[in-house]
Amino acid sequence: MAVPKKKVSRSRRNMRRAHDRLTSQAWGECPNCGELKRPHHVCSSCGYYDGREVVDIDSVA
Ligand SMILES: [Zn+2]
Repeated sequence: MAVPKKKVSRSRRNMRRAHDRLTSQAWGECPNCGELKRPHHVCSSCGYYDGREVVDIDSVA
């Protein structure tokens, strides 16, 4: 098994972890109702996608 040759200093360990962060989720405004929706997803409040109603929200809920 590969074994580290030297102890990794706190500085170097923290430098490595500088990139270990979660990226925030992308959210945008629905052009139909203005509610926050995720890109490439059907709007959960009005059921619209690409300018037309694709899901009838009232019948689903
Ligand atoms: Zn909407």
